[in-house]
Amino acid sequence: MTGSANATRVLVLNSGSSSVKYQLLDMEDGTRPAVGLVERIGEETSRVVNTGPAGAGKRERTGPIPDHAAALKAVADELAHDGLGLDSPELAAIGHRVVHGGLKFSAPTLITDEVLAEIERLVPVAPLHNPANITGIRTARALRPDLPQVAVFDTAFHTTMPEYAARYAIDVETADAHRIRRYGFHGTSHAYVSRRAAELLGKEPEEVNVIVLHLGNGASASAVRGGRCVDTSMGLTPLEGLVMGTRSGDIDPAVTFHLKRVAGMSEDDVDVLLNKRSGLVGLCGDNDMREIRRRIEEGDESARLAFEIYVHRLKKYIGAYYAVLGRVDAVVFTAGVGENSAPVREAAVAGLEELGLVVDADLNAVRSDVPRLVSPDHARVAVAVVPTDEELEIARQTFALVGAGREGRGRAE
Ligand code: ADP
Repeated sequence: MTGSANATRVLVLNSGSSSVKYQLLDMEDGTRPAVGLVERIGEETSRVVNTGPAGAGKRERTGPIPDHAAALKAVADELAHDGLGLDSPELAAIGHRVVHGGLKFSAPTLITDEVLAEIERLVPVAPLHNPANITGIRTARALRPDLPQVAVFDTAFHTTMPEYAARYAIDVETADAHRIRRYGFHGTSHAYVSRRAAELLGKEPEEVNVIVLHLGNGASASAVRGGRCVDTSMGLTPLEGLVMGTRSGDIDPAVTFHLKRVAGMSEDDVDVLLNKRSGLVGLCGDNDMREIRRRIEEGDESARLAFEIYVHRLKKYIGAYYAVLGRVDAVVFTAGVGENSAPVREAAVAGLEELGLVVDADLNAVRSDVPRLVSPDHARVAVAVVPTDEELEIARQTFALVGAGREGRGRAE
């Protein structure tokens, strides 16, 4: 399907509402010849940052970039500057992160006009995310119409959830008419991390049950049985579940009626409150876990309470997913907070010794960017830290799809 036998590279594009992140990955030698982002699209002070191949170093420039089309053009220019342009014969495909794939897309999908139309039909359930993804796809296709382009969906990994986990207990007709159900997000990360965790345990993914805790600015938990997701904490949108940087996570839905009826807030006010002014930032004014820990060390009470609320919710999900899985081989921490915050990991499993969960203080304190165990050797359940790599997973899935039938590829694991 790819044009050239030497086409070993995949460009991964992650188009957000005001930014485009990109990485060029070589699936043959495991290198990343370009990593960069365009941010503040639509403002006067848009910024492009590109880290090129070894030796080329980092370039940065600021200036107005009016829209996503111009942003992708800027990405193409950056790549071309290092001889890696979109017309390069090494480029096998472009892999696009697409946030919402609904029920339709349970696997990476080669983008055609029909597929794009289907992704557009999902805009009502993902109004904040899918439009930017769609613009990114359209622009990239216009730049290289002949190149295979693949959509990799954040929701795909969760499509294996049984119906009793995915359905909300509301009127079935209303739910179906408006496609209201649990879809889950961060699926690319949950897929990658659960697979790497199995490797770390020296087992096949089919042999292990793991609880993955993806704790970034957005945060979600998933229960993965034998490599397949059976439950996850985010729902129709990424608002449900864990306490996040700026999002509330689980809340009594009646709070929203109350805010409208009693506090006189509009729909948009409530949306902004729960998505942007809640979570850690709403509780203590900071959403960076480093800053929260620093304030706790100084005796700050609101930071301490925010931390306790964050960890309490995390612990509830560990318990819930333990019960869902019945047997757990590993609890795995990932993303900014999960990979870096030893106090969060320690507090999340504190008191769960009866469940076989223990953290070794020395191992937990080690800072590293490789997958590792932080539980003692004798622990019944492993506690692990596995750095996530959504770009690699998108590239891997994209390359597997377009490179199907070509042997000996995809070594960049
Ligand atoms: P995003 O959801 O934006 O992709 P990341 O996975 O990059 O988020 O996580 C960002 C968050 O990780 C920050 O807001 C911060 O709370 C946390 N974080 C990053 N580095 C550290 C660190 N060294 N110690 C504790 N927390 C950290």
